[in-house]
Amino acid sequence: MSLKPVGIGLMQGLFVVFKHATRKRITEQYPEERLTVSRRTRAQELVWDPGLCTGCATCVKACPQGNLKVTTSVGPNNNYIVEKFENDEGRCIFCGLCVEACPYEALFFGRRYERSQYSRGELIADKDEMSGDDKERSAYFRPDLYDDLPEQTLLIYRKHKKII
Ligand code: SF4
Ligand code: SF4
Repeated sequence: MSLKPVGIGLMQGLFVVFKHATRKRITEQYPEERLTVSRRTRAQELVWDPGLCTGCATCVKACPQGNLKVTTSVGPNNNYIVEKFENDEGRCIFCGLCVEACPYEALFFGRRYERSQYSRGELIADKDEMSGDDKERSAYFRPDLYDDLPEQTLLIYRKHKKII
């Protein structure tokens, strides 16, 4: 057993204290402050674009959970009119297969992560809940959106061992 010279342990402890005392603060005071999520986040909601959706139901077939529901009627030009578009977010595993499968890029991940509800029924998102101008779209599988989104907070660049 080797003995350290007296005071080495104390100096090592003080070094750790000063190292952490002087680094940039990374704690956020939630809920007053909120983190910016990754640009490509698969957060807890899907966003649907009614202007792009053709009602083809490819997303429904891609979903391993079977929790997307699309009902259509036939429009005047023999096109589909989407009557119902629903996602049961209580059963959704946010795998992204529906987003990837959509041939018209009408389905996106949203960026909201505070989606707790008091009952499971409130987790069923309908057409109105899934669309709207206030919905923030994630760049997951939609790289065109990437540059317009804010940078993630607490992003760690491991290459430089630096937290920004
Ligand atoms: S993210 Fe996955 S589980 Fe959720 S609706 Fe899409 S395909 Fe289904
Ligand atoms: S795959 Fe896309 S276009 Fe087809 S029904 Fe689903 S969201 Fe609409």
